Amino acid sequence: MPNFVDVALPVPLRQRFSYLLPDEFIDHAKIGSRVSVPFGNQHRVGIILNITPFCELDESKIKPITELLDQRPLLPESLAKLCDWAAKYYFTSHGQMLSQAIPVALRKGGESEFEGQVEYCITVLGNEIELSTLKRSPAQKKLLAALKISALSPAEFNELSLSKSALKALTEKGWVEAKQRTTEFNLRWRQSLVLGETPHKLNAEQAVAVSTLTQQSGFNTSLIEGVTGSGKTEVYLSVIEHILKQSKQALVLVPEIGLTPQTIGRFRRRFDVQVSVIHSGLTDKQRLIAWQQAREGEAAIIIGTRSALFTPMKYPGIIILDEEHDSSFKQQEGVGYHARDLAVMRGSLEDIPVVLGSATPSLESLNNALSKRYQHLELTNRAGAAQKVRQGIIDIRDQPLKAGLSTALINEIRIHLDAGNQVLLFLNRRGYAPALLCHECGHLHECDRCDAFFTLHQALGEIRCHHCGNQYAIPRQCHQCGSTMLAGQGIGTEQLEQTLQQLFPKYPVVRIDRDSTRRKGSLESHLNAIHKGEYKILVGTQMLAKGHHFPDVTLVGMLDVDGALFSADFRAPERFGQLYTQVSGRAGRATKAGTVLLQTHQADNPILREILHKGYAEFSRNQLEERKQALLPPAWNMVLVKAEAHNPIDADTLLNEFANRLPQNEQCEVIGPMPAPMDKKAGKFRRHLMFQTQSRPLMQKVFEQALAEVEQLPIAKKCRWHVDRDPQDLI
Ligand code: ADP
Ligand code: ZN
Ligand code: ZN
Repeated sequence: MPNFVDVALPVPLRQRFSYLLPDEFIDHAKIGSRVSVPFGNQHRVGIILNITPFCELDESKIKPITELLDQRPLLPESLAKLCDWAAKYYFTSHGQMLSQAIPVALRKGGESEFEGQVEYCITVLGNEIELSTLKRSPAQKKLLAALKISALSPAEFNELSLSKSALKALTEKGWVEAKQRTTEFNLRWRQSLVLGETPHKLNAEQAVAVSTLTQQSGFNTSLIEGVTGSGKTEVYLSVIEHILKQSKQALVLVPEIGLTPQTIGRFRRRFDVQVSVIHSGLTDKQRLIAWQQAREGEAAIIIGTRSALFTPMKYPGIIILDEEHDSSFKQQEGVGYHARDLAVMRGSLEDIPVVLGSATPSLESLNNALSKRYQHLELTNRAGAAQKVRQGIIDIRDQPLKAGLSTALINEIRIHLDAGNQVLLFLNRRGYAPALLCHECGHLHECDRCDAFFTLHQALGEIRCHHCGNQYAIPRQCHQCGSTMLAGQGIGTEQLEQTLQQLFPKYPVVRIDRDSTRRKGSLESHLNAIHKGEYKILVGTQMLAKGHHFPDVTLVGMLDVDGALFSADFRAPERFGQLYTQVSGRAGRATKAGTVLLQTHQADNPILREILHKGYAEFSRNQLEERKQALLPPAWNMVLVKAEAHNPIDADTLLNEFANRLPQNEQCEVIGPMPAPMDKKAGKFRRHLMFQTQSRPLMQKVFEQALAEVEQLPIAKKCRWHVDRDPQDLI
């Protein structure tokens, strides 16, 4: 009797595919192994979901698999289940969810088994050889000298620029040999854990958090709400120590921008174990190695960004998500998912604790903590001897501004600089000016493909659209009236930097935004120079607000507060509260008091007042109440269907097909179809449909059904569309 396999393939179709399993593979094929299969006129790598002697389809039409790529399942059962759950929850294809969960090298069909790491060692014979006998061959002498100190991995061999032919010669003499590094060696951390440094003595709040977290076993989720600098990382390190001592691994997830050498260094300094790092800057090969080390249990600690959530652990111990409110944990493009929500699910599947930490928790996590679904741990004091931040509002109504800077702010900057300190100015718009204006006719130059103005980039001599990448040389004449009187309208970081340099010629300025840090390693080198005090004035966008500590900064100025307060997005106040709190957390440390100043035309704005006077903790709790009253997330569940097409009618038609299939009553709300806040982008018209309901099971059932039907309609192929569950971004 023939055998068949059901395979998940990385294609958008939400279904499994059947293939014939030739006899030669029967003994080795396992659920969870990869196979290469014919698909259309190509080959695809898929994952076996089921092996069965039955097939409902016409057997003669079923093609055999081409190759079996793994002898054992690629992912542990918990992760396979997680992907299955995630595909259903996010209404996407199981195959795509699985595929993005594994390293790129494996998606392409690469070898999954650990190539036992080779190491070059000196032999007993080689150890007795005097270096002076190799005077005539300096390359051999250099190699032998190096090996007398320690064995070398091939990577270290290359780093030291040692000679391959010398290696060959010494191996032939029997003085050097290549040995497989043993797994026992790499797993020695499980026998005895060595600390690389003595931990700080925990303060009372930290001690309570650590003992609570270490006294429980099995799955549970905790939220650590701890002000910036309250020693959350120190708590993680203590808890991890406890986990490692039980011979279990720790997975630590951090936001994109937070994965700095300083962060990784803190973990490496504390524990003498393999810390594997997983992020998007690695080559496919490096990523695969880190993944394998985690899977084999050799990496005691795995630190990574969003996608590292799917890293298998042989001895799962704990998942920690730092800065849990950060929006980079949500994957927006392609297969969407939220790493925070999946981390909690994974914790429950692996029966291990999950710890979420932030100074400014998301309202989702706060809601879970306040309703006792999560354990709530608070750290209210700064750990080091830090001083309280002074804060103030500068009312700029009717005030003269110089590149967006009020006289009051300029004066304050001068005082801090003259005192020998650093100043950080925060403006969330890169480029020279956010628009190009004609002084004669008032025309604002708009992208021909989007509903957006061109940003003026003076240094590049270009105008650019930040939404579609469209770019042109700066026009000499107005597109509408032909006048040559064109000038930037509004202020961007490039202009702010220039103006500050003119105002304070003695104090070097550095700008940190996506334009100034495009080159690999340039963010690092800028940050290093800032820490060394080479720059006195720091200008930056959001990038500068997150995760970096600047002990010599005593003044933080926020310039575009108004822009942040007025947004169509219901999350705008929450985001502003987080940003403000994070930014002010950068100011002042140990011995120096910090000041934060906000420039605004809305000095009486209640949101602004509340966040300043009451702080994030109280502000966020009030926000949560407002969300509940407005039936918005996290009180209600939300799905956003986004459609785009050259002809807006196609997008509307598709969304109406959804709308007609979704219930509208006290429990369910359907909003739209309506134009997206940015109606046109990259030449396409964009439409949104929102579906909200309080009940999760209802959401799942109703939307799944509508989706299955709409997918089959011809209109579904006429425009691009995308389902975003728990959307973070409504633009
Ligand atoms: P967070 O992660 O909450 O921002 P960190 O763990 O980075 O806080 O701690 C902030 C600073 O305080 C660090 O320099 C850290 O070394 C120090 N620190 C943390 N806990 C203690 C402690 N118990 N005693 C002394 N210093 C501490
Ligand atoms: Zn004009
Ligand atoms: Zn554009």
